[in-house]
Amino acid sequence: MQKKTISQRLERVAAFVPDGAKLLDVGSDHAYLPIYLVQQGRIEKALAGEVVEGPFQSAQKNVSEHRLTELIEVRLANGLAAFEVEDQIDTIVIAGMGGRLISEILENGRAKLRAISRLILQPNNREDELRSWLVSNGFRLLAEDVLEEAGKFYEILVAEAGQQTLTEQEKRFGPFLLEQQSPVFQLRWQKELKKLEGALAHIPEKNELERSAMSQKIESIKEVLHASK
Ligand code: SAM
Repeated sequence: MQKKTISQRLERVAAFVPDGAKLLDVGSDHAYLPIYLVQQGRIEKALAGEVVEGPFQSAQKNVSEHRLTELIEVRLANGLAAFEVEDQIDTIVIAGMGGRLISEILENGRAKLRAISRLILQPNNREDELRSWLVSNGFRLLAEDVLEEAGKFYEILVAEAGQQTLTEQEKRFGPFLLEQQSPVFQLRWQKELKKLEGALAHIPEKNELERSAMSQKIESIKEVLHASK
């Protein structure tokens, strides 16, 4: 059976999965990530959870076509309901969803997170809300990554149990990403800056509050970009 190739985004997510992890991939519409990791020999087994029937079936079909049904179990379940203590899951990936939905999935399954040693989260937006949820719920960030693929920027947040406080700036931009100031990080925020400056130009002068909120966002990006020079 051919080896699965996955998007650069999922490859970068996969890089944070510890070798030998007992993995649950939540929202595993095609089960691409578990298939890739098992084929690479990085993990022995995995659970793939999916809440919607159609994607659940396509995940099952893919696992079966790759002859991995003994090693990857696909479960139709909402969020963290996809695993039980007996599954001994220690690593959870939740990728390709909004940051608010990821926070809700974590919140709804909070009691189950005690047994988890690593969360690997790839929000498509609202990264600040997700960082806030993590630090308010006994997690600390271990690492972060940012990448650009097909014109879109994606952040990856890796967390483990622990205490951490983050400033508002760190919640928005990411403590590790701020520190690293990678070229992709800079490009992402330069583009956002241009977008917001364009939006500001279209807000009528009389809408002072709206203009002021937008100006503050713009200033906070400029601060971060200038800090790197
Ligand atoms: N994780 C894959 C990735 O990163 O490429 C798939 C991302 S896809 C855009 C999001 C998937 O998450 C959809 O198939 C959706 O049905 C599923 N999903 C959304 N909410 C969920 C939940 N509460 N529990 C399980 N799956 C969920």
